[in-house]
Amino acid sequence: MSLQNDVGTPIETLEGGLPRVWANCLAKIQEEVSSLSFKTWFQPIVPVKLDGADITIKVPSQFFYDWLEGHYSSLIRSALTSVLGETAKLYYSIASEEAQDLLVEASSPLPKPQPPSGNRQQQFPVRISERISAIQSNLNPRYTFDNFIKGDSNQLARAAAMAVANNPGGTSFNPLVIYGGTGLGKTHLMHALGNYALTTGKASRAVYISSEKFTIDFVEAIQADRVNEFSLFYRSVDLLIVDDIQFFSGKEKTQDNFFHTFNTLYQLGKQIVLSSDVPPKELKGLDDRLISRFQCGLTADVQPPDLETRIAILGKKSEENGLDLPQDVIDFIAANVTSNIRELEGCLISLFARASLENREINVDLAKDVLRVVVNELKNPISIEQIQRTVCEFYNLPTDLLRAKTRKQEVVIARQVAMYLSKDLTNSSLKTIGLHFGGRDHSTVIHAYQAVEDRITTDTVFRQNVDQLRRHLRLNHA
Ligand code: ADP
Ligand code: MG
Repeated sequence: MSLQNDVGTPIETLEGGLPRVWANCLAKIQEEVSSLSFKTWFQPIVPVKLDGADITIKVPSQFFYDWLEGHYSSLIRSALTSVLGETAKLYYSIASEEAQDLLVEASSPLPKPQPPSGNRQQQFPVRISERISAIQSNLNPRYTFDNFIKGDSNQLARAAAMAVANNPGGTSFNPLVIYGGTGLGKTHLMHALGNYALTTGKASRAVYISSEKFTIDFVEAIQADRVNEFSLFYRSVDLLIVDDIQFFSGKEKTQDNFFHTFNTLYQLGKQIVLSSDVPPKELKGLDDRLISRFQCGLTADVQPPDLETRIAILGKKSEENGLDLPQDVIDFIAANVTSNIRELEGCLISLFARASLENREINVDLAKDVLRVVVNELKNPISIEQIQRTVCEFYNLPTDLLRAKTRKQEVVIARQVAMYLSKDLTNSSLKTIGLHFGGRDHSTVIHAYQAVEDRITTDTVFRQNVDQLRRHLRLNHA
């Protein structure tokens, strides 16, 4: 058991001081946002001061501050409270062209620029004590039916989701299975369904979980001898939403547990909602009895959005972000980014970021610059397997050893470097990365990341090796 201080924060977390505290916060944040958003909005932040549970972070501009507070304040808050405890306080220091940076506390309106003689330091400490209320359900309130744009490509899935949200367990759409390619709105729709059912009281216990998290929790429950508790929890909900069930593939024990959960809920008339990247009958590595259960309700697909829908989505997203995108820029992006909605969002974020950081006007020229970079990165994401192969080639080791239990020094180092690069260069969550390394858990990945970071600062040769690997991966995938 680790030592605890009076706010319940493990002492070891605080020992590494500011860099470690911030790295731990970032690790939590990174689990929740896309890699593009992470790069754009979180990597440029510089932690500047830690005083007890008060942390000050420096952001490049006022625009940056507004954006972070407007979009990510609850995320940052919950990361901070989980690392620093309930008494955590957050201050922003906003880089200013004048000598003194502006200091503001989180969620206060940004002070108007002061005359140069005025006092430029302002502090309004607030306690970060509110918890994200939806934590029990794992539902993200950001995803609603209201901000889900309707189009031919998602019409059936959206209509079915709304029908189920209005009457969970009471329609013939049980289970509702939504399938389709990545970035097409499956997760958004499922959260919207859950949020609607909960806020209207149509369901009182709703739980959203990804199949990966379900698997990890189940394995942990076995280890802790708490399978009964685990099963009871999922078998007592009104609405169970399981995302990306393709990741149940090959996990026989988990599938067996899920099969019984499914049956119990189904027999009780409770609603089950699932998503997958392919139609249920094409799922590989899943037990036939599960697949046949999945097919007894409604299966609805989401398709890539057509041009009209892409234009509508871009218009809506820029409006949501309070930014006025010229119509020719919207048309240009919509015409060129065709594959999915996540990619459309990625372009918008980069566009705003470039415009604000380089102080450029948002026009078609800027959009062209942004697209060149973003489209390439998104179209050819580096995979964890590719990283594992490259790292093993470099260290001259067989790749299986990365997934094996061995703790031989040279394997441990290669494994940590591969985990580090996976976190840096792919979109994958810490959980996914852990799963690719022999089912290790996300805290092992965080630990590996930290170990590599630490060593990079003290060992020049090691740093050069890691840089070389990163360059090699980037160049060979472009
Ligand atoms: P999937 O789960 O299918 O991979 P997501 O639900 O995560 O896709 O969608 C990716 C991003 O695109 C999310 O930010 C989501 O809010 C957005 N998105 C997807 N479809 C729509 C839509 N029809 N209207 C508005 N935003 C959408
Ligand atoms: Mg999804």
